[in-house]
Amino acid sequence: MSSAGIILPPILPGATLGVLGGGQLGRMFTLAARVLGYRVLVLDPDPDSPAGSVADIHLRADYTDKQALARMGAECAAVTTEWENVPASTLEALATHCPVRPSAAAVAVARDRIREKIFVRDLGLATAPFFAIKCEDDLAAAVAGLRLPALLKTATLGYDGKGQLPVDSLEHARAAFAQLGERPCVLEEKVKLAQELSVVLARGADGETAVYPVGENVHRNGILHTTRVPGCIAPGVAELAIGMAQRVAAELDYVGVLAVEFFFTTDGELLINEMAPRPHNSGHYTLDASATSQFEQQVRALCGLPLGSTRLLSPVTMLNLLGDVWGDSQPDWQQVFAHPEAKLHLYGKREARPGRKMGHINLLSENADASFVLANELFATLNTR
Ligand code: AMP
Repeated sequence: MSSAGIILPPILPGATLGVLGGGQLGRMFTLAARVLGYRVLVLDPDPDSPAGSVADIHLRADYTDKQALARMGAECAAVTTEWENVPASTLEALATHCPVRPSAAAVAVARDRIREKIFVRDLGLATAPFFAIKCEDDLAAAVAGLRLPALLKTATLGYDGKGQLPVDSLEHARAAFAQLGERPCVLEEKVKLAQELSVVLARGADGETAVYPVGENVHRNGILHTTRVPGCIAPGVAELAIGMAQRVAAELDYVGVLAVEFFFTTDGELLINEMAPRPHNSGHYTLDASATSQFEQQVRALCGLPLGSTRLLSPVTMLNLLGDVWGDSQPDWQQVFAHPEAKLHLYGKREARPGRKMGHINLLSENADASFVLANELFATLNTR
């Protein structure tokens, strides 16, 4: 069993927990941990980091800063991460001091699209057809072996549709590879999407797993727009997705919260798109609509506590708020507060830029259809600029 999976006595409230990364995911982890009575130390170089501003301690240093890592290791009973691009050496260095969950090995698979897709394929689970592109010479065979159009995606550091370009010929593929800086990439077929789904689960060091209901996601311009739960999902498909996500978690000997994103194609195939070794935007609905939020679950898994119930308390649609709806001024929040079951979450980011995730709203309702309609109506009202 990996070091992440070693069963230790539970870490109880009063202890200090560390989180690598100070964005919104770190912030919501920090808030959940503090509600439970833990102290939280955030490592993030940004003085204005959303998580740093709500933490007990904000270490403003680089993720490779040896002194900062030594302090974090000495002060924290356990450490987790809010993003997959923290260097593996950082996770490994911290693991010599305290439990780091998820493990560096699991994060390494999720961080790199090439490793991730090969890992999924080797498990016998489906992905969109793809080729790994390490140099320009790999492009010709990949273009010949795929049905075009395809997408060229950087293997690392791509998110929210960033670092990916459409390709419909070898010539295009070469130009796209150059435009992406000739970095390792995957070229993958553009599949015909009927739906996008995601499974968020938590797995403890003892292998206990708690799975949230499957979310149905709508993306706009490559960025998550809404997640609706329960989704309107064909019979059997949610169970299949859950089984695939559980298999991934077990094979990674995963400890923590894991999200697996799926494509459900018009041909009825369920493909794994990618995974995130942390709470996920499509799990933000759990903050208001679930017995245990994905962030409390992250605390529980990190601390070796029993996992909480994932029971859905209310149908819900989560609506993302991107910087686009800010324009020159704050959105008209009165429109949101006018809805008695709209739950506003803002991340405390000072600057609203197009595409930047600034917050989200969870719209609860008696049924998911109504919450989905409400989310889209509210979006239309806020997005009038
Ligand atoms: P990603 O960053 O890989 O999750 O991609 C962002 C979004 O782009 C996805 O949620 C899909 O809406 C779309 N997308 C990405 N890859 C594909 C694909 N192979 N086929 C169809 N749509 C895709």
